[in-house]
Amino acid sequence: MALEQTFSIVKPDATRRNLTGKINAKLEEAGLRIVAQKRILMTRAQAENFYGVHRERPFFNDLVDFMISGPVVVQVLEGDNAVARNREVMGATNPANAAPGTIRKEFAESIEANSVHGSDSLENAKVEIAYFFSGCEIVG
Ligand code: ADP
Ligand code: MG
Repeated sequence: MALEQTFSIVKPDATRRNLTGKINAKLEEAGLRIVAQKRILMTRAQAENFYGVHRERPFFNDLVDFMISGPVVVQVLEGDNAVARNREVMGATNPANAAPGTIRKEFAESIEANSVHGSDSLENAKVEIAYFFSGCEIVG
């Protein structure tokens, strides 16, 4: 088992409903350690750049509007196989397809307002962590 770090976001639909603690409990129960965390209001430029790979998708503008519609909690999660483990506890992108017990099954409102982001690869995790955190903010 490889000790990894991954990047996570508690999205605006979840902070609005005061679900940060419940989501953090799910992450911790899954064996993930929150080694950095801060609540921010993303700028449009930050959100557009963060979701840059989706720029050509029809939902891009709506997604950016949603991500800046309220505060988010950005996090670094650490654990064995943290990238895959987090994707597992998050559940499928569309909550209708998410497995029972996953964050998105329990909390997501829709395919867009789906409560959490999680890096999809170790390589992307490194880029996403560095985008929001400096080294001295991450305490493992
Ligand atoms: P994931 O967050 O599961 O990695 P993607 O990377 O494919 O999913 O998409 C990024 C985010 O864009 C999703 O979490 C969701 O908020 C939004 N999204 C994805 N697909 C759609 C869609 N068909 N309609 C609206 N929003 C979407
Ligand atoms: Mg993704």
